[in-house]
Amino acid sequence: MVNTQPKLSIRNLHKHFGDLRILNGVNFDVFPKEVIVVIGPSGSGKSTLLRCINGLETINDGEVYLDNNQKIDYTPSSLQKVRQKIGMVFQSYNLFPHMTVMENLLLAPLKVQKRSKNEVLPRATALLEQVGMLEKAESYPAQLSGGQQQRIAIARSLVMNPEVILFDEVTSALDPERVRDVLDVMKDLAAQGTTMMIVTHEMGFAKEVSDRVIFMDQGLIVEQGSPEEIFNNPKEERTKQFLKNAM
Ligand code: ADP
Ligand code: MG
Repeated sequence: MVNTQPKLSIRNLHKHFGDLRILNGVNFDVFPKEVIVVIGPSGSGKSTLLRCINGLETINDGEVYLDNNQKIDYTPSSLQKVRQKIGMVFQSYNLFPHMTVMENLLLAPLKVQKRSKNEVLPRATALLEQVGMLEKAESYPAQLSGGQQQRIAIARSLVMNPEVILFDEVTSALDPERVRDVLDVMKDLAAQGTTMMIVTHEMGFAKEVSDRVIFMDQGLIVEQGSPEEIFNNPKEERTKQFLKNAM
């Protein structure tokens, strides 16, 4: 990886809400095809970090760079462009309830990216097939389980061809028996070389798919390393404590 340019570089990221300091200088790179899992206690700033990268929160200090050190411009007029390059999937699936599954997938590529239906339809169809939802293409979200909706939300993010996708606890709201289906889809994406940053409490999954694990606490990266290093041989006391309670 020495000669590879990072896909995403986070530099000295600071975020506060009023007096509440949430991110206190976060630094890391995400390399092409890398799968980074972010773990840490509730309130440590994991969601805020992803939301800042995606432009859902303003950044108070620091920079984010995409591909070849292009500094991301988070001014309102640029946000749509930023979100085409940096996809995000949430705990709540946020599908449009009045649209079919296929309409949900086609909306942004046709309306925002101005791509042609001839080009997008085969891609959307392939993605629905990949997440095991092709037979539900004409269904409405309310007719589907949470796990099915989440798999569609992932496909909807992919159809934009983002450079990197951020996942924020995408299985936390699901019935336990639906969790595996969604994790399997993400595992599949990882195997295909999708660049991903995943916040999750699923430690087994984290071990299985991640190239690197970042442990955050109090708005800072406390420790990062390979899954073996972090899960089997954590160095920092706070990481040890967290893992003891989490596993
Ligand atoms: P995590 O995802 O690690 O659980 P979050 O990033 O959601 O942590 O939250 C970190 C801290 O920021 C929490 O204390 C939370 O209450 C606070 N916070 C998040 N969003 C806001 C907001 N919009 N206004 C004020 N405080 C917020
Ligand atoms: Mg969170």
